[in-house]
Amino acid sequence: MISPFKGNFRVTSPRGYRTIGNISEYHGGIDMVGLDDTTVLAVAEGTVYTLYEKDGFGYYVRQQLSDGRRIYYGHMKSFLITGGSSVTPGTPLGIMGATGKVTGPHLHLELRPAGYSSDSLDISGYTGIPNVEGVYVSETEIGGAVNKNLYSYDDTVEALIKCGIITLENMVNWELMLSGRAELKTEFVRTVFDRCCAKITQLESKK
Ligand SMILES: [Zn+2]
Repeated sequence: MISPFKGNFRVTSPRGYRTIGNISEYHGGIDMVGLDDTTVLAVAEGTVYTLYEKDGFGYYVRQQLSDGRRIYYGHMKSFLITGGSSVTPGTPLGIMGATGKVTGPHLHLELRPAGYSSDSLDISGYTGIPNVEGVYVSETEIGGAVNKNLYSYDDTVEALIKCGIITLENMVNWELMLSGRAELKTEFVRTVFDRCCAKITQLESKK
């Protein structure tokens, strides 16, 4: 697996159709949050360009691969490279952020075909990162075996709060954001919601 983060990360939104409120849209990449390190690393060799898109990817890096395909790294807080430079896998590109159209800090990682099309290709197939929600541990840390089940309820809640995706107070908003995305969310995420909601109720009853 080629990861844009060192250490643990969480896939917060897979590639595919998603419905937020009444709007259904195709999500062309995977959204990821670096839990141990928020430095975004190149996942391939190629030339990188720094760009800005207010209502889209925010500050983002577009990487041109030798075969013409392009990789997009969206919503960065800042850049660590200058446009036009050549990088190799692992080169730090920038810091994960929340610029552009986002609900919280994360990296949007997307693969597109050669040319100018905005169609997306299978970034999960390219990187080996599972296209589902959950916390993953990098291959190096677990001796080469990718285990999808290395997360626990406590770890995930702690991680979500630590990376600023949720606070106990805004669990309700998170719940709203994911409503209608039944096909995307796991039983596990559902359990997290339920337990956090129970905790909020518990905290509020103490006031
Ligand atoms: Zn995204």
